[in-house]
Amino acid sequence: MHKVDDRFFFEVPDSLAGRDFLMVTRVSGVPAGAGGFLSAGSSLVERLVRWERVNDRVLLKSISTGAVADDSLPIARSVAQNNYPAIIGAFPIAAYGKDSASYVVDVTDFFGADNPATSGLDAAQRRAYGVRRFDAARSYIASMRGFPINIEVRQVQTFDAATPPSDADGATVTMETRQSIVLLPKVPMRPRYADARVGYFTVDRVNYGLDVQKAENQEFITRWRLEPKDPAAYARGELVEPVKPIVYYLDPATPARWKRYVKEGVENWQKVFEKAGFKNAILAKDAPSKADDPDFDLDDARYSIVRWAASLVRNATGPHTHDPRSGEIVNSEITWYHNHMRSYRNWLIMETGAANPSARSLDIPEELMGETMRQVITHEIGHALGLQHNMIASASFPVDSLRSPSFTRVYGVSATIMDYARQNYVAQPGDGLQPKDFIRRVGPFDDFAINWGYRVTTAPTPEAERATLNRWLTGQTGPFPYRFASQQLAAGDPRNQTEDLGATHLERTDGRNHEGEALGPRHLMHIQIILGGVLDLHLGVGGDGLGKPHRGVVSVEHVVARLAAVGGFHQQTTILLHCQGADRLGCVG
Ligand SMILES: [Zn+2]
Repeated sequence: MHKVDDRFFFEVPDSLAGRDFLMVTRVSGVPAGAGGFLSAGSSLVERLVRWERVNDRVLLKSISTGAVADDSLPIARSVAQNNYPAIIGAFPIAAYGKDSASYVVDVTDFFGADNPATSGLDAAQRRAYGVRRFDAARSYIASMRGFPINIEVRQVQTFDAATPPSDADGATVTMETRQSIVLLPKVPMRPRYADARVGYFTVDRVNYGLDVQKAENQEFITRWRLEPKDPAAYARGELVEPVKPIVYYLDPATPARWKRYVKEGVENWQKVFEKAGFKNAILAKDAPSKADDPDFDLDDARYSIVRWAASLVRNATGPHTHDPRSGEIVNSEITWYHNHMRSYRNWLIMETGAANPSARSLDIPEELMGETMRQVITHEIGHALGLQHNMIASASFPVDSLRSPSFTRVYGVSATIMDYARQNYVAQPGDGLQPKDFIRRVGPFDDFAINWGYRVTTAPTPEAERATLNRWLTGQTGPFPYRFASQQLAAGDPRNQTEDLGATHLERTDGRNHEGEALGPRHLMHIQIILGGVLDLHLGVGGDGLGKPHRGVVSVEHVVARLAAVGGFHQQTTILLHCQGADRLGCVG
């Protein structure tokens, strides 16, 4: 990275030509009034890119990771030919480094002008705002910084727009975007196959090199690369430290008063990783002082951070950057927005105040507020470890257990921290719960999921470990066997919703709906799924195999499997499941 006058230059070392980089485009400054579809920091596009020298130019190519075949197979040639990389940038070589081991290229126009590869607005947004043109005079590269494995570019982009999201008379949209170009590991991490029954985020690709009749879709979970320092001890079942632990640095802007809780929120996962055989797998540290490490920087992709945003936004986010080839999480940035505390204070008062004397004033005791913050951080870190939301988890706990001090002391409010089950509003005055026991925490589902995703197996290949992964899932014992339902299926299952608590919140109908009418087979899906009982299941559309009544014990997984067998679970099917009987029960959405 060099800057000469107003021009910005990259120096591409020969050794990195052809290496895989991840290029992430984010909106870092959202125009006022842009509403929900743009949120600061969320990534718009992620691309795998390579720098390649062709004669006197250097090309930036966008590589498709959707289709692969092992390089050793003849079909790899065809896969490459049919997924020809798009050239998203071409740069004349302006100068050579020492011994011609590197090439210097001018990237000012690539990042400074209106380039589809780096734009903060896509075609739909341009239409929505009536964008007429990019205004170069009011756009610029705000900063460009180089680090050992990444380059960070911040751009201010201004557009002439007929219908901007705010200040209509100004006819302008201005936004800040951020491009991160991160060097990926030379050897991709060994991937782990995903399973729709276990709630990890995934990367998808089509593999043409497998020994099956047709190309196969492969889905891998996103996860950190955790390898035991002492594989022999790990194999003996001892707790072993990972070669490289997951480390989060605290934003130096974090108020001293809350640092302790943020750190504990991160390290709450340590005991969960012990279930996967790792000790000290995840650590939280203060950012080093300038004296200790003058080069430390929050933008350096080698460091994952918990950012403290002094913003009026009431939220927290937990995105991560992962290697699209393998699912390896290479970096993560959690953001805690200062005013999120206000939301939680209000929820605590409204939802628990009646039974929880310490949540009855606007000035909630620090310890209770801190505990709440700790658990929010833990939830966000959960996303950054690869875990999706799992809103069905709260349905594993009996309602009356939520009133028991001994139960809530151990389990909190839901079987996972990844549920939107925040505090216990079931407990009543006189039940005797301690203030902390009204608040969510990591649970048995987190233990299960982390072991499932992170335990190192002895299988020689990802394919060979699939039987083991399946056995871990199907062979579960214990009071709360793991189950997962994706948020996309929320309309098909009333247990799978946010902010609910307990197993039987709909069973209080005592087999009757709110009109007092006895529930029968014609109420179908929802009853079936809620109660897990044995009823006729009529999936309701004729002629395609779905029309036949089906009898048996039904679970969500079962229904989805049956739908998959006849061509998949699509939008229409969702509506169908959602409608039958749902109106009578009061459906979720
Ligand atoms: Zn979340």
